[in-house]
Amino acid sequence: MNEKHILGISGGRDSAALAVYMQHFHPEIEMEYFFTDTGKELPEVMSFLGKLEGFLGKPIHALNPDRDFDFWLAEYNHFLPSPRTRWCTRQLKLRPMEKWLEKDLANGTIVHSYVAIRADEPQREGHQSTHSNMHVHFPLRDAGIDRKGVIDLLERFGVGQPDYYQWRSRSGCTFCFYQQKIEWVELHDRHRDKFDEAVAYEKTAHEHGSPFTWSQGESLLEIVEPERQAQIREDYAKRLARLRSKQRRNPLAALITEDVDDVYGANQDTACDVCSR
Ligand code: SF4
Repeated sequence: MNEKHILGISGGRDSAALAVYMQHFHPEIEMEYFFTDTGKELPEVMSFLGKLEGFLGKPIHALNPDRDFDFWLAEYNHFLPSPRTRWCTRQLKLRPMEKWLEKDLANGTIVHSYVAIRADEPQREGHQSTHSNMHVHFPLRDAGIDRKGVIDLLERFGVGQPDYYQWRSRSGCTFCFYQQKIEWVELHDRHRDKFDEAVAYEKTAHEHGSPFTWSQGESLLEIVEPERQAQIREDYAKRLARLRSKQRRNPLAALITEDVDDVYGANQDTACDVCSR
């Protein structure tokens, strides 16, 4: 019986840690690593993938969608994707993976898919198997590896964390609608071309009658108005100070990092499970 073992790398720390874990603790498994490239990735993600490839000593296959974001945007009448209509994940992330596995699954190959759900996320289900020949595994969860364990693994093996964690909680598209306002402000500062591209998409959507903006309640240009920017930065600084003071009062519960999500207390449901593990 043919078997195939696959591990999707998102550019985030959990999937990277899973790859490191599998390579170190299960070298007997002939793993195939893949990355579904939306074509709208942060430069920090691409450089981290290069670093990870170096560590793994294997290529991470880029699965490029046959049709890009612009094609699908036009198909969806220029309505921007949103948490309620996440056509982007379906068309740019899931579809390329399904196409990649289509032949193998059809010819009876058993596909083992390793998914980076941690031990401290019992409520998460991860990618469910969509085919009887597909078996999904959660090695981090099974080994009791939590968020701290993930960071320890990456540090211990010298891979480190992607640089974007300094200002953004997750990988995924530059214009992902799951971003907090402060992340848009940072995108504006750090990757002006990507920010401008997101503005252009928003403008086209508006011209086609879409009422939606990338960020709820205001356009990107409104977000980066000097007064609004200052307000967003101030709000972030206050929340961060609150978080740090809480940690000082309870050092046992102290976080080892302070992601934007920690500061805003983002519910895990608001994260893109498929794109940003
Ligand atoms: S990262 Fe965000 S915008 Fe990109 S595919 Fe995932 S949900 Fe959609």
